[in-house]
Amino acid sequence: MNFKNITGLFLFGVLALSCQQQNKSENTEAEKDLIFEKGAKITNANFIGTAWLNNLMNADSINTNSVGSVTFEPGARTNWHSHPTGQIILAIGGEGYYQEKDSPKKILHKGDVVKCPPNVPHWHGASPEKAFIQIAITSRQDGPTKWMYPVTEKEYLE
Ligand code: MN
Repeated sequence: MNFKNITGLFLFGVLALSCQQQNKSENTEAEKDLIFEKGAKITNANFIGTAWLNNLMNADSINTNSVGSVTFEPGARTNWHSHPTGQIILAIGGEGYYQEKDSPKKILHKGDVVKCPPNVPHWHGASPEKAFIQIAITSRQDGPTKWMYPVTEKEYLE
């Protein structure tokens, strides 16, 4: 290997490392806004990518709301789904997406609030470049979330 190749390899290495560090700092940037602990990695098939759930409160017969803090890593999102009594999403940090069926995608940042109507198919998640943290308040009064199918790359990016 000649000197030129070694220099090229070195520069490529520096570039790759700095990209990696940039991604890391963007994740950390969103995570600075975490209010509650990140919780456990979600392992069910209702999500694409890596997401974390801290189940803060379970619904009961008196208060039918369940409350959870969800952290989506960049590119992670839910499948299409609906809630029988709707859902409230509080954006805590990072950059998120929210889309209802047949409506344009909304971009969410810290401080945004979404009221998702009952039985309307929708999905939520992080943008491709930044993590997203949300608090989801979901009434369980009329039953559990109805999970559908994955959000395609086309739907996610358009
Ligand atoms: Mn939802």
